[in-house]
Amino acid sequence: MKPNGALRIAIQKSGRLSEGSLGLLRQMGLQFESYQDRLFAQCRNMPLDLLFLRDDDIPEYVQDSVADLGIVGSNVLDECGMDVERLLPLDFGFCSLSIAVPEQEPYKSVKDLDGKRIATSYPETLKRFLKVKEVSAEIVLLKGCVEIAPALQVADAICDLVATGSTLRTNRLNVIETVSKCQAILIGKKKTTENKKSLIEKLLLRARGVQEARKYKYIMFNAPSKALEPIKKLIPGCKSPTVLSLAEPGFIAIHSMVLEESFWEVVEKIRECGGTDILVSPVEKFIR
Ligand code: ATP
Ligand code: ZN
Repeated sequence: MKPNGALRIAIQKSGRLSEGSLGLLRQMGLQFESYQDRLFAQCRNMPLDLLFLRDDDIPEYVQDSVADLGIVGSNVLDECGMDVERLLPLDFGFCSLSIAVPEQEPYKSVKDLDGKRIATSYPETLKRFLKVKEVSAEIVLLKGCVEIAPALQVADAICDLVATGSTLRTNRLNVIETVSKCQAILIGKKKTTENKKSLIEKLLLRARGVQEARKYKYIMFNAPSKALEPIKKLIPGCKSPTVLSLAEPGFIAIHSMVLEESFWEVVEKIRECGGTDILVSPVEKFIR
């Protein structure tokens, strides 16, 4: 593949981060085709090419300038030790790297694993964690299916990625320690040209705009005018809420942004203050 001067971003070809990565890039306004068997796609509306790779290869490709940017799990980044810039945590691909033990075993914390064997695909990260905890355990390196290691008596414990915990439950394992909390992260190479730098800044602004928008709902409702002061305290909005007068005297319409995480509590309090006809819509982009 010949370089064409366009910025290159590497994302996971097929796996747990693929959908989130493609979704984010599309919400950032990038137009491109993506087919299962493709390794490469060109953006139609920006000088940007997409490379579809195995996640483990992405940090090295960015470090070696094959790609300018990449989206990868922070767990992969922590493990590989490549020299790249961490540009933006992306708020998807959440999981944690955790130590788990068989249900019937008495181990309560990592300290109890001194002298034991721990199976993992993340030996470097685990080694650092054990050093901090001053625990001396044998690390058994496995590339996959780490969760069956205790049943096969290959190890006494495992250190693996956990999201919902269903794989652990199936294998009768309990988490006793969290090594790190992980999520997808946008990475970039350390040195880049001025041209590329300004395009990267543009992309970062868009990515932050998409992320901010996901945190909020846009809310519109009617209320008696006398309820404005208590309602203003509930929903400060960006600066303050927009207040419009209604044709009916003594009533107003209020528009504001509300944080998704506290949305239902705020709606309940708005109703207590006399708010009615509450309309809610998602926020697609939010640029501060
Ligand atoms: P590849 O074929 O690209 O090497 P993989 O099998 O190594 O893929 P996936 O299982 O698709 O990788 O996971 C990719 C990333 O998704 C992980 O590195 C991690 O950051 C994140 N992730 C989120 N939830 C989980 C989970 N429950 N188990 C494993 N990874 C998860
Ligand atoms: Zn992988």
